[in-house]
Amino acid sequence: MQFALVNGTRSRPQPGVRGTCPICGQSALSKCGSQLMWHWAHHGRRHCDPWWENETEWHRAWKSSFPETMQEIVHFDEVTGEKHVADVKTARGLIIELQHSAMPLEEMRSREHFYKNMIWIVDGKPFTNQFELVPHLLPHPESKLLEDVVFFHPLANAFWRRSESTPDSSMVEMHRADKIAQEIAADYRGHHFFCWKRPREVWYSATAPVFIDFGGKELFRLGRYRPSTQWVAQRISKQALIEKNGGIYSAFSGGG
Ligand SMILES: [Zn+2]
Repeated sequence: MQFALVNGTRSRPQPGVRGTCPICGQSALSKCGSQLMWHWAHHGRRHCDPWWENETEWHRAWKSSFPETMQEIVHFDEVTGEKHVADVKTARGLIIELQHSAMPLEEMRSREHFYKNMIWIVDGKPFTNQFELVPHLLPHPESKLLEDVVFFHPLANAFWRRSESTPDSSMVEMHRADKIAQEIAADYRGHHFFCWKRPREVWYSATAPVFIDFGGKELFRLGRYRPSTQWVAQRISKQALIEKNGGIYSAFSGGG
């Protein structure tokens, strides 16, 4: 944790200082060595929040791009009494959950149910080599073009037209995508097909928006395409997402 309570005030760790966990009230010890990032260690071997992940540099980079008042916010369900620490909570009440490691489906569902108004930022570094964006551009999913045009999945370098197909035939005429490059470009909003080998299936079941961060200036938002069995990734500016939610991109450590 970056924050524990010291005399009732949210505080960062300092050498030799003892604090208390903002969730359960157990003691928290400041760990201020040279090997690891300074942090508060929860009393006992496990954190009291079962959803807590050991923090990585990646978590810190994301949290640090938001004001301290938005980081590690205790979220409380008045009905059930359940408490968890949200990684980031924006001024508008949006929860931003940062997920580095693989997560069981049940936990993903519980967290979405608990936070409701939330988005996921997923650390893509562990599976960078398994994920490939197909370079061909696609029109956005609501584009009028898609009422007729169906792209071949996953390469998207060719398409067929619904208007040219007959119900009793399984044959369609194939066209090269570059024949309609201008129309595609006019409706391009960053969408691409992708190939994800051994995917983390849990993210295909998420109902909250999922943004994968491979460490560059862009995020890839997962979404459904037409026909709805196809998945697309939409390129999103990391800076835009951070700033839209009240953060400061230049504070993103290592992401400038
Ligand atoms: Zn605790």
